[in-house]
Amino acid sequence: MSLRSSIGAIRRDLLSSAHSRLAPLNDSGPIVTFTFDDFPRSALLTGGAILERWNVRGTYYTAPGLMNTSSDAGDLFRQSDVETLCEQGHELASHTFSHISARKTEGGVFENDLLKGRNTIEQLCGYDTGNFAYPFGDVTFRTKKRVGSQLTSARGIFPGLNGPNVDLNLLRANSLYGDLDQLPAAEKMIQQNLEQKTWLIFYTHDVQAKPSSFGCTPELLEAVVSSAVRHGCRILTVQETLECIGVSKGHTSRRAARSVPA
Ligand SMILES: [Zn+2]
Repeated sequence: MSLRSSIGAIRRDLLSSAHSRLAPLNDSGPIVTFTFDDFPRSALLTGGAILERWNVRGTYYTAPGLMNTSSDAGDLFRQSDVETLCEQGHELASHTFSHISARKTEGGVFENDLLKGRNTIEQLCGYDTGNFAYPFGDVTFRTKKRVGSQLTSARGIFPGLNGPNVDLNLLRANSLYGDLDQLPAAEKMIQQNLEQKTWLIFYTHDVQAKPSSFGCTPELLEAVVSSAVRHGCRILTVQETLECIGVSKGHTSRRAARSVPA
């Protein structure tokens, strides 16, 4: 292991244990959640259709500033997609307004952008979401401490299973990228999740035949959803899972972020 990756691993471990807000999973597992970041149109039009076929729903973390734009992941969501998403019973959750990194932005700027994104999502879909995912998975000790207390949950991209005590300030999540050759790795996680009766969160971006390097094919998503269902996992959104384990949304208090330098 290189020095750089060793330092990265140590930082990840420290961040995982610092400023935690733990909630016991008790006997609620095994649960699997499918999340889509940024919300490319294909994540709903193709990915959402796959989930619907299995009568399950997903969580879409989006930054409203990305609306009507496009990226390597293809066209990102439009306002009409938000309406469709809500009608279909999926969850819209926040991802800052401008899709900015907590590591590259001053703390006060990041917190204000997070609040702006959350407020805009409330205007778009009519409910306040306390669930958030860090853009790029970038999290700092400072933001984990300060932002965590304002949210119901915050998701990162540190891999692994959640439980038996879930850290609401930094939910673990595992990438679901590529094509069917990635199925064995995903099935291994599903198997571990089953044995440990924990909560497995997957994340991806676009869902299309030729996905970006941060997306997956419809075939991979379908196969993983099918596997999770066949193994008897409950497929729930983030919010459904939190309600299931007794984390009330009312816990959330939104205080104005202070504009102070990091
Ligand atoms: Zn993102």
